[in-house]
Amino acid sequence: MTFHLITLFPRAFDSYLGESILKRAIEVKKIKVKFYNPRDFTTDKHKRIDRAPYGGGPGMVIQAEPVIKAVEKAILSSSRKRGSRLDSRLRGNDKSVKIIWLSPSGKQFTNESGARYAKQKNLIIICGRYEGIDARVKKILKAEDISIGDYVLTGGELPAMVFIDSTARQIPGVLHKYES
Ligand code: SAM
Repeated sequence: MTFHLITLFPRAFDSYLGESILKRAIEVKKIKVKFYNPRDFTTDKHKRIDRAPYGGGPGMVIQAEPVIKAVEKAILSSSRKRGSRLDSRLRGNDKSVKIIWLSPSGKQFTNESGARYAKQKNLIIICGRYEGIDARVKKILKAEDISIGDYVLTGGELPAMVFIDSTARQIPGVLHKYES
């Protein structure tokens, strides 16, 4: 299983993924975690990622284009052998990769949903920051809106880590005893 993380802060994952069961799961290749930073897909010289919301309101919103380009790279990396592309995904033809949109207003993540996700080969997880990501991205990518609980965190990195931890431990071979 490969978790593809779309995040502005990839280093936030280092310490947790570098310890204990998840560290071992990565070492024995039960799981893989890959990172794609939307900032690497900006085109202006300052690598600016955020803009004031078009409809007004407080804070800043992450722009759509760099996030979509980062997801496109993750899709290409996860389905190269099948020659799959973003346009195929957008036409609804590629269901081999699930895309998770982390949001406090999403559907509650549970142990049962983790068990279902544990059967996927590739999961793309989009971590928001600031006031969130341009809402068109979720619609364009047909992403599943997931919340880890009824509270608002500063960013999607902690929710993604919770998602990975709970899902990975339900992949056979990650825990010494699956019954755990
Ligand atoms: N106004 C935004 C909204 O309602 O989506 C809040 C944005 S929040 C400050 C920044 C990011 O943190 C969100 O885009 C989301 O990715 C993540 N996040 C915060 N709380 C979360 C939760 N309970 N579950 C999942 N993701 C969450």
